[in-house]
Formats: sequence, C-alpha cells, structure tokens
Amino acid sequence: MKNETLMQYFEWDLPADQLLWKRCKAQAPKLKEAGITKVWLPPAYKGMQGMNDVGYGVYDTYDLGEFDQKGTISTKYGTKEEYLEAVKSLQKNDIEVLSDIVLNHMMGADACEMVMATEVAENNRNQIVQTQKEISAWTIFDFPGRGGKYSDFTWNSSHFNGVDWDENTKRRALFLFEGKRWDGQTDEEKANFDYLMGADLDMENAAVRAQLVKWGMWYEETVGMDGFRLDAVKHINATFYKEWLDKIREKAGKNMFAVAEYWHADLRRLLRYLDSVDNCMSLFDVPLHFNFYNASNQGGTYDMRYLLDNTLVEHRSANAVTFVDNHDTQPGQALCSFVQGWFKPLAYACILFRKEGLPCVFYGDYYGLPSHNILPMPDLKKMIKIREKYAYGEQVDYFDHENIVGWVRTGDEEWKHSGLAVLLSDGPGGSKRMLMGKKFAGTTFKDVTGKCTEIVAIDADGWGEFRVDGGSVSTWVTKEAYDYLETEVV
Ligand code: CA
Repeated sequence: MKNETLMQYFEWDLPADQLLWKRCKAQAPKLKEAGITKVWLPPAYKGMQGMNDVGYGVYDTYDLGEFDQKGTISTKYGTKEEYLEAVKSLQKNDIEVLSDIVLNHMMGADACEMVMATEVAENNRNQIVQTQKEISAWTIFDFPGRGGKYSDFTWNSSHFNGVDWDENTKRRALFLFEGKRWDGQTDEEKANFDYLMGADLDMENAAVRAQLVKWGMWYEETVGMDGFRLDAVKHINATFYKEWLDKIREKAGKNMFAVAEYWHADLRRLLRYLDSVDNCMSLFDVPLHFNFYNASNQGGTYDMRYLLDNTLVEHRSANAVTFVDNHDTQPGQALCSFVQGWFKPLAYACILFRKEGLPCVFYGDYYGLPSHNILPMPDLKKMIKIREKYAYGEQVDYFDHENIVGWVRTGDEEWKHSGLAVLLSDGPGGSKRMLMGKKFAGTTFKDVTGKCTEIVAIDADGWGEFRVDGGSVSTWVTKEAYDYLETEVV
C-alpha cells in the first residue's frame, strides 16, 4: 500500500486575491505528481472580515462565496463555484479533500440583543466577577444577504453560552448568559475552556446540535468532500463531534477521515479526548510539534534520544497526524512556535520517513512564506517523493545517543529499491553503524541530501556505517533510488 501524505493547502498570510481555489484547481495534477494523497483546504464559508477573513471568524456557514454578505460575494479564496471545481479537480487526481469545520463560535452578528449575563474571570471561567446585569450582545444572526436560501434557521442568544463584548458599555469582558453554563467535557485550562472567541455556541442545546447536523449534511451533499479537519475541539463538549461525525458519516455512507485540532502540548489531554470520543477521529500531534520546536531552539543541547517521547505518534499512532508547523504556529500568529529553519529538515525526516503517523506538510514550508521572507524549505519536495517511493518496510531505531540518532527502513517487495537509512544530529556530526539487512549485502547507498558525498557499501552481514554532518540530517537510499531522485525530482 502506498504511503499517504496530507498537505495543508494554505498559510495565514496568503494574499486576499480570491484566487486560492483557482490555483488549487490548476495545481492538482502537480500535487498528485509530488506524492500528495490528501489536501486540507481552509474554511470555505463567509467570515466576519469578508474577503480578508482567513476563515475562522465564521459568519455564515451556508455562504461558500455565493451571497453578497460582509462586503463581498467571494471569500478570501474565491467563489462557491471555484471551490467546488477545486475539490473536483483534486479528487480527479486521486487526492482526498478535507474540509475545515469551524463550529465553536460565530462572529460578525447582524444585530445586538439585550441579554442578562454574569461577568466571569478570564482566567477562571467559573469565578463570578460581577453578578447578573443586562448587556447588549452581538447574537442575532439572520443573514439578510442570503434571504433564507438553503436554510431558514436564524440564531439568537438562546443558542449561545456567552460573548466577550458588551455593546452597551463598549466593554470587553467575559459574559455568561442567564440560564446557561459553560459546556462540560472541555479542556480544564482556565477552569473551563469552553469559551474561545466571538459568540460561543451552546453545544449542550438540542436545537443547536440538530442544526449543526443538518448543516453538516447539507455541506457534505453540496461539496462531496472526503473528510474533515475539525477546529478548536478542546473548546467544545467532547460528545458533540462524536455524534456529529457518526451522523454525517452515516448519511454520506462512507467512513470519512477526520483529524481534529486539540491544541495542547500535554499528551495526556489528547489521549483523554480520544478516549472520550472512542477514537473516532485522529488528532494533530501537538506534543511532537513542541518537541521539534524545543529541539530547534536549544542550539544543539537537546537530548535527541527523547525527540519522539510523550507524543501521540508514539502512544497512539493510529490516531496521529504528525506535522512540523501550521497556520497558527507560523511567524506573526498567536500560537507562534515556528520550528527554526535549521531543524526543519530533521523534523520533516521524522514525520515523512517513519512508519507511524499520517504526516501533514505545511503550505508555508512547501511554497515559502513571502510575507515573512521565508523561502520554501530546500529538499522538501524530494523528501515527499522519498516517502512515496522508498520509505517502506520494517523500522529499526537507533535512538541511542544524545546528539546523533537514526533509524532504518528495510524496504519491501512491492516498492522497488525501497529502504533507507536516516541519521539526525543536533550537535556535532558523526557516524553510526546500522543494520539494513542481509538482502542489501554488497549494495551501495548514497545520501540524497548531498551533504555526505561518499558511497556507503553494505557489508556481507547487511551492516553499513552511515555518516551525518553537524546540525543536519542525512538520508541514505539505494544507488538506484538516488539516481532516480537526482534525475526525476527537481
Ligand atoms: Ca465553546
């Protein structure tokens, strides 16, 4: 079976040129050729900032770039027609499409209403700061620009738990509505991390749940996506997405893939969430991202033996989507924890060349981040191709030294010339003897990164002595694979 590679097809600071869907449609054959098998597209519905909204400031989930709302018909990425064409083009090229689902909050309401609310503390959402009083909350969503097409459902304060703005006094504070409590089964940071931003949906309200299932069915039917990326799940009652996915999958008649963002570096929280949803989805491996980030910032003093420790891919690999960076960790963003450039090739080797986990390649690493003068990561295309063609077979680890660690993949019959040896060093360079296996006896290996130029001969017992330069990665493949990569992948 071919190795899968997911790509996040956007970064935060893309120009608001409404051309992403068109570019994606045109690029689909190239993405297939590159070895990409799944693509995660950004939220496709109208956000409060209109054509400047990245997609997370959700205004109307039924407006996929079709209605004149928030000053524009098109979203930041294009029109509904262009979106549907991009999806079709990807699917025609055997690439599965994951739609970004943002249901925690809504923003940019059409009108205010007077609501009785209790002010609570930002850092302890169960602590009352001021007893109940009347505020003016932005909670009326009736979408006059859409005029009831697709759904006549409108939103009001009964569907939300709270807001962070009183229009009456023009004051920012956290307000919990009368008769409401924050969702249970959310992250325990700040005592209860139900509230993130905007008008927070009450996921314990039956009418809200029913409407979101109804919308999900409409969305699946309209777009025909293959799966989902679920936003901000630590702020949503865990039972919600379990039920939502069950119903959408049942209606679609297929087991749609889903990966959720539970943004926490503590593996235990991720495992607890997965347990509570019966492992019905994958999660992004946030702990692994932070291991990469920390290693990249320790200038060679990180103990590489522990690089994969306490990560989702180590403890529940079947539910792990591994990644190096994303639109939230890139420079300038709130969660900014961008892995330093020198370490990126080491991190990508860990997600692309190992057996476990579904790797997610970041658009900003693949195409660069021009708004931050960051160039595409050298060799990333080549690394994805290595994953597609050569990263097969058993995996034997050599995580036995504080600076230099490595592993081999012993190849399999199905993939000609497959098998590789990887060495990473965050400190000085050096070498390591690793066992490729007797079937490789007498063959030669070369480093595709070009850093080490010597040829490694595998001895009669199947061992080779591989080398790596300081602060880098070397990836050793068979001579035949090396020649193919040199000529075919530019
Ligand atoms: Ca919430």
